[in-house]
Amino acid sequence: MDASSDTIPRALLDWYDAHARDLPWRARPGAPATDPYRVWLSEVMLQQTTVAAVKDYFALFTRRWPSVEALAVAADEDVMAAWAGLGYYARARNLLACAREVAARGGRFPDTEAGLRALPGLGAYTAAAVAAIAFGRRAVVVDANVERVVARLYAIDAPLPGARALIRAKADAITPDARGGDFAQAMMDLGATVCTSRAPRCLLCPLSAHCRARATGEPGRFPVKAPRQAKPERRGRAFWIERDACVWLVRRPGRGMLGGMRALPDDGWSARGDGSGEGPLAGPWESAGKVGHVFTHFSLELHLAVYLGGQCASLVPGDGEWWPLERLEEAGLPTLFAKAARLALAGTGELA
Ligand code: SF4
Repeated sequence: MDASSDTIPRALLDWYDAHARDLPWRARPGAPATDPYRVWLSEVMLQQTTVAAVKDYFALFTRRWPSVEALAVAADEDVMAAWAGLGYYARARNLLACAREVAARGGRFPDTEAGLRALPGLGAYTAAAVAAIAFGRRAVVVDANVERVVARLYAIDAPLPGARALIRAKADAITPDARGGDFAQAMMDLGATVCTSRAPRCLLCPLSAHCRARATGEPGRFPVKAPRQAKPERRGRAFWIERDACVWLVRRPGRGMLGGMRALPDDGWSARGDGSGEGPLAGPWESAGKVGHVFTHFSLELHLAVYLGGQCASLVPGDGEWWPLERLEEAGLPTLFAKAARLALAGTGELA
């Protein structure tokens, strides 16, 4: 078995030249890099999100904001609404902060990993990915797909997340000096299409001759994961208040869960604790069921209450807004509140 630092990238790049995925933010293998704005935008969107889910959002964003300068002058609420459904909303806030910083520098992204890392919201992974893909730099780009491929290539027995430093060192050892972007994307593609999580397709793999996990006969055993801790479960209430074919929506505080997004009023649930149960009006309320949602660090059971009283006038414009039901899909509600809205409207056909 030859796992030298030279033969692996060569075999992988040959495979990539023939099998690269055709993605809207990508250059063809060997072609000059695409616009750094598109690379950066796609990488931010792809964090914790699948390629299939990102494609439509990428098309929408690049149509509406075709350059980093255009995005930089967009209204916060428009970007947050356009992001709705992609989840991990801190990414959208960081996206805007970064766009504004780059626009202030004349619209040019720094072309080194260190320079990119200094931009707002660019972590180690994104800086490395943009440096490699947009600027062809040699950078060690390790996402979950790459982590899996490397852990298998070297049959790394140490469990994640502790094994990350070793995986990174191994990835570094096989990263070539040339074609940095193609190599990074080739590793990602291999992990996404061949060395898949559940059933690696070793017979189709260009690296099978070098792969120690395959030699063990149990490639799916890698990467080894530490046992998962159960997620805490939280409970909260959200409130549906309707008047004159409008619903009362609030803007969530800028920081914290779903920060800056439009939402139904709720009782203050958070990642740390249950909500108070208290609504923005005294009542009466009628229960309309519940929706579940899994966040990164906890799961939430959100109970929906519908207002049956007549005190809507005590809601103060500025604390929230009356949003027309017929345009509810344009409110940019995050997935959790979109689910709750669907529950409230069930049977009326108002929201698909
Ligand atoms: S041989 Fe199998 S386990 Fe090894 S890298 Fe290829 S697909 Fe993954």
